[in-house]
Amino acid sequence: MTDERRAELAEGIERVRARVAAACAAAGRDESEITLIAVTKTFPASDVRLLAGLGLTDIGENRDQEARPKAAECADLPLTWHFVGRLQTNKARSVAGYADVVHSVDRAKLVRALSAAAVRAGRTLRCLVQVSLDENASPEERGRGGAHPGDVPELADEIAGADGLELGGVMAVAPLGADPLPAFERLAGIAAEVRRNHPGASIVSAGMSGDLEQAIACGATHLRVGTALLGGRRAIVR
Ligand SMILES: *Cc1c(COP(=O)(O)O)cnc(C)c1O
Repeated sequence: MTDERRAELAEGIERVRARVAAACAAAGRDESEITLIAVTKTFPASDVRLLAGLGLTDIGENRDQEARPKAAECADLPLTWHFVGRLQTNKARSVAGYADVVHSVDRAKLVRALSAAAVRAGRTLRCLVQVSLDENASPEERGRGGAHPGDVPELADEIAGADGLELGGVMAVAPLGADPLPAFERLAGIAAEVRRNHPGASIVSAGMSGDLEQAIACGATHLRVGTALLGGRRAIVR
């Protein structure tokens, strides 16, 4: 079982790395600029362990109640944990206990909650401003969260000035059903604007299983890849 799963995951890594290499070559970029985050939501801690054994160092999760026990089970592994999902302020304390990078910071209230939680935990959280790239959609349609592009500079300043937090850069999910390229180009512009005031905020988290090539073409530094590495997720009811 384990050997079979390990072989499957190794194949997934190989396929994704080949796609990353090809996209980097096409974009004239160096592969070393890209961090591959394995989004392990719905998959067991045993998969995280296998991925770590295969050389992956970055793990992404989107729900606190699933991520917390998984991170605890894998606490002996040298991993960087990325929280990539919508985050309620009442989960900030929990997330601050295990996450190294929070990709989904999209409002001032959450900045304050994460700051207090990080200070309390004696940890530093690297935070990314999640940008909504389909702000024309209704709030319901925008369920995936993200700050309006116009609010990003102020949120970035707030993170940079908050105790226990460090501004890492920006993150976005391409709008559903639209060409991801213009959305990622827009994100690149917003990322550059943030870097003008915060030169160290170099992370651009963009690109998933279906659009990592377009993300790399637009300067993504961090890819969040689930399905292409781990296989299909069973539908989960939220
Ligand atoms: C699930 C998820 C991913 C990975 O999606 P795949 O299409 O499976 O690669 C990336 N980012 C976020 C925010 C996610 O929730």
